[in-house]
Amino acid sequence: MLSLDSLAVHAGRDGLTGQGVHALPIDLSTTAPLPSVHDGGQAYEQMATGGRHLDGQSTVYQRLWNPTVARFEEGVAALEGAPEAVAFATGMAALSAALLATVATGKNHIVAVRPLYGGSDHLLASGVLGTEVTFSTPEDVHAALRPDTGLVIVETPANPSLELVDLARLAADADGVPLLVDNTFASPVLQQPLAHGAALVLHSATKFLGGHGDAMGGVIATSPEWAARLRRVRAITGGILTPWPAYLLHRGLATLPVRVRAQQATAHKVATALSGHGLVRVVRYPGLPECDPLGLVGTQMSGPGSLMAFEVDSAEHAERIPGAVRMITHAVSLGGVDTLIQHPAGLTHRPVAADAKPHARLLRLSVGLEDAVDIVADIVQAIEVTR
Ligand SMILES: *Cc1c(COP(=O)(O)O)cnc(C)c1O
Repeated sequence: MLSLDSLAVHAGRDGLTGQGVHALPIDLSTTAPLPSVHDGGQAYEQMATGGRHLDGQSTVYQRLWNPTVARFEEGVAALEGAPEAVAFATGMAALSAALLATVATGKNHIVAVRPLYGGSDHLLASGVLGTEVTFSTPEDVHAALRPDTGLVIVETPANPSLELVDLARLAADADGVPLLVDNTFASPVLQQPLAHGAALVLHSATKFLGGHGDAMGGVIATSPEWAARLRRVRAITGGILTPWPAYLLHRGLATLPVRVRAQQATAHKVATALSGHGLVRVVRYPGLPECDPLGLVGTQMSGPGSLMAFEVDSAEHAERIPGAVRMITHAVSLGGVDTLIQHPAGLTHRPVAADAKPHARLLRLSVGLEDAVDIVADIVQAIEVTR
């Protein structure tokens, strides 16, 4: 078995030499030649009901199967230590498919640990997919379970508060109900939730996996049984990942471990510098001992990552800071090569109910690959010039 760094470079690239190529190919066909009505029809039925494409078969239609997407899925599955992975157009399409697949098992109650990404919170609170949600703290998950609970959802590190949840404990509390972990913030480089009892691991591939802010995607790493359920929903509802972004996301995997570790080393310096600044009330970063009371960095996570949040003295001050950065970009999203700052209460977590919304004094920072000295200098001048 290869190590994670080697898998990042090589997984999903089997058979390229046989094709006479070295870089990943992009297969753009929306349709595929059919050998006969009978064989084509059998392949169609098999894939539309969640089966994998078999060697020698027609792929029939891109909504059912695409070789470029399948290569990316293989790459992600390898990094998460999962038997399979299923890719979607966006992270939200992936979460939607997980909820629809859960409803299709006959259970429509979801227990979701807050805080979650604002869009996930919005999807669950809206109930548009026929699910009913109970929002919970990590401690109250067991009490929130019902006979019709089909899925427990958690995000760790959480967006945007960077709180960490003990996954093994949560999986035990879920008492056999499948646990879905949104692993977007950690990436498989720092945390592999299947090893801690998760049944499904979700990524917004738009973030770290792609890593360059130029391709959207979502992916779920899981068991063959869940993968089949998810592929069926994907084939029926159409939230597929398409070949161009699949190629870019797969290319991103090769540098994922290097990027994650470099960004993390820089983030540690930025968090330390901000902690010592007189106008910063509090820094939330899992690498600071006070932010990891359960000691999960070094056990569940191999490192604290490159996302952090910090609070200043007032909401008004916090709202002025993103407009004053020079090198850093004021923008939502995260996990890319460049540093981004945003105001969660006003932007990414805008749809979240008032009693669960992040504090308006809080700003979120996704640390990129720039020099730590330049990042710190830019944030500090923005904090000071807007005070
Ligand atoms: C961005 C994000 C999502 C949603 O992913 P999209 O690709 O934007 O649809 C889900 N979870 C987390 C933690 C995110 O940061």
